[in-house]
Amino acid sequence: MFDGLKSAVSNLLSEVSQKTLNDSDVDDILWKFEISLLENDVAQDVAQRLVSNVRESIIDTKINRSEDTNQLIYDKLMDLIIKIFSSSSKIDIIKSITDAKSTGEPYLILFIGVNGSGKTTSIAKLTKIIKDNGLSVVLASADTHRPGAIEQLTEHANRLSVKIVTQRYGADPAAVARDGVLYAKNHKVDVVLIDTAGRMQINKNLMEEMAKIIRVIKPNLKILVCDSLAGNDALSQAKEFMSYTDFNGAILTKADADAKGGAALSISYITGKPILFLGTGQDYNDLDLFDEKVFASTLFQ
Ligand code: GDP
Repeated sequence: MFDGLKSAVSNLLSEVSQKTLNDSDVDDILWKFEISLLENDVAQDVAQRLVSNVRESIIDTKINRSEDTNQLIYDKLMDLIIKIFSSSSKIDIIKSITDAKSTGEPYLILFIGVNGSGKTTSIAKLTKIIKDNGLSVVLASADTHRPGAIEQLTEHANRLSVKIVTQRYGADPAAVARDGVLYAKNHKVDVVLIDTAGRMQINKNLMEEMAKIIRVIKPNLKILVCDSLAGNDALSQAKEFMSYTDFNGAILTKADADAKGGAALSISYITGKPILFLGTGQDYNDLDLFDEKVFASTLFQ
């Protein structure tokens, strides 16, 4: 996992520790570092910030010779990566649900993202986490566009023993979402997880349909599900979804298969929204709470 980014960092650290560097060595090392960041899905703005931090560390050690360049770069990079993630506010989903429960209201979570990003699977995984915390869940299948979508979510609902609210294909997704909310209110269910149709960011009608669902049900939380293997495309999806939905946080799926690693960093930096979970496999238990310190230390292993 994230081997590309890990080797970008370890190559940098080994090159700076090999000899006394002159200015042209420094330029060369930083150029290589920037290219390897870009190759591993780190957005240009983030890559430039990381590179300029490393340059500062090298200058600092030239001025203050008692310092070890390698250690200083390690500390500064680690610090910057953690800062990038922690500049967005954290969301404790279970606590938010429990707070809503105490007011007698169901907590509504809307899932958005393009087809194939792992939305349905992530809804099933989150259902399990919420149930494991002693809270009740109803699913609403507001993807009334994609053939098979309703059956796929129904299968998860059956396996996880939770209620699902559906309508026919072609029905108004906002009406399905509203049905889910009514069901939860009438049956005192704690959480409604709403699946929506996967949409390409270029499809304006579908994006407007999404905005309508949001207006109608006013979800407590809007989660963007992004496929980390989509690389730069994941970043442009995040930007576009941001402008239509102002989502609150993201789940980055398929991290187990992501040989690069920059997607989380880029999405968080560019949208200013937290990464909530990493999808790390196809089983229900494969959804890990995202922790920026764990992420950063993985890159320096
Ligand atoms: P949707 O179209 O967005 O609802 O996507 P699905 O939930 O149907 O997922 C698409 C494919 O990605 C399925 O084969 C899932 O099993 C797979 N998938 C989803 N999340 C993960 C993950 O975290 N890791 C891996 N390896 N596969 C995943």
